[in-house]
Amino acid sequence: MKMKGRKAPGLGSNSRYSSLSLFLSFSLCFFLLACGGGKRPPAPVRTGGGGVPSLPTPDRSPVRVDQAPGIRVLLKASFGSAALEGSDLPLLQRIQAEGGKITLRDGRGLVLRSGSGFRLQPLRGSMLRLDGVPYQGVIEVFVNPLGTPVIVNELSLETYLQGVIPNELSSTGGVQLEALKALTIAARSFAFYSLGQNARRGFDVYSDNRSQVYRGTSSQQPLSNQAIDQTRGTIATYQNKPIVAFYSSTCGGLTEGYQAAFQGAHIPYLEGGAACPDSASPNSTWEEHIQVSRIQKNLDRLAGVGRLRKLVSLRKGQWGRTVEMRFVGDRGEKVLKGLDIRSALGLKSIWILALEPHHDNSGYIVEIHARGRGWGHGVGLCQTGTVELARQGWSFERILKHYYKGIDLTRRW
Ligand SMILES: [Zn+2]
Repeated sequence: MKMKGRKAPGLGSNSRYSSLSLFLSFSLCFFLLACGGGKRPPAPVRTGGGGVPSLPTPDRSPVRVDQAPGIRVLLKASFGSAALEGSDLPLLQRIQAEGGKITLRDGRGLVLRSGSGFRLQPLRGSMLRLDGVPYQGVIEVFVNPLGTPVIVNELSLETYLQGVIPNELSSTGGVQLEALKALTIAARSFAFYSLGQNARRGFDVYSDNRSQVYRGTSSQQPLSNQAIDQTRGTIATYQNKPIVAFYSSTCGGLTEGYQAAFQGAHIPYLEGGAACPDSASPNSTWEEHIQVSRIQKNLDRLAGVGRLRKLVSLRKGQWGRTVEMRFVGDRGEKVLKGLDIRSALGLKSIWILALEPHHDNSGYIVEIHARGRGWGHGVGLCQTGTVELARQGWSFERILKHYYKGIDLTRRW
């Protein structure tokens, strides 16, 4: 997953739904509740201490904790049409975006409503289904402030995790509960950190690997839900601030630092260098033969040097990854850094052990043979390594503190 964008000013949530308020007025109460939680982190839970003695709390009266915040997940952008079932508008069958407006149509194609945005609730006791996939919470469809039609699912962050964890780490195949708990806290921390990050686009997170893969309730698994329930509200913090908990599939044996991979600021808890027992994974080491004709589009987009003639590895990072590479083509040359190297060459990772270009008679590279380690950016928690460490008996807390240096675990709701 990647971090996209930076914090942006809060969106005026109410303005874009003015056309809807008349016919969905009954939803207002839930609307205000749900919107209120999503943009502001709740106050930390007070856990006592500070020298002030506290009275024991009877078991029957649970300690009050803050409600889980809401999260807004992008399901579709720049869409033409989508099928929606189970809405509080019983006749609603189809959502269309046309001419900068959203149109709701019934099964015969007749227009029910048309406007800049709508907030759709599920019928009592049911779930909304968008293009056949069931979702908890509400679905909003609107033209965002950048002029793009979007469909957004808004729901509790805890419920959102139920639709994320099984896609990021399936609990089948003997995965231990501790591994799922570790990944859950990483995913929760990442989601919490992401609140408000894409506000000007009208959502918090993407539903694919630009954030975390989310597929509504269609992918829920009992053991994942257990991991989510048992760690409810717990996030990783560094100096009392929520961390941006990057994680990746398979680091290849040693994690990478955020700064080198993403070419961003130094993040102390993402320095990399954590030894990782993921050698049993088929992605821990790899060998690929890449046809240049198949990656030419990526090369054009990222390097823009025309037909490739030469690749020069310029610099390796602290943990062995290639962090600078010169691309030389018939229309110039350019130095790519960090993960751009991986994207341009279509590699599994930037941990490149060997790179052997094969030229045609005119001196252009036609094929690249590459060997390397790991799959993904390698920053933060390694999913494959987490599974192995849990198998070796490590607790979720020990696993998290291994991959994210100097963190604490804090319950926020
Ligand atoms: Zn690893």
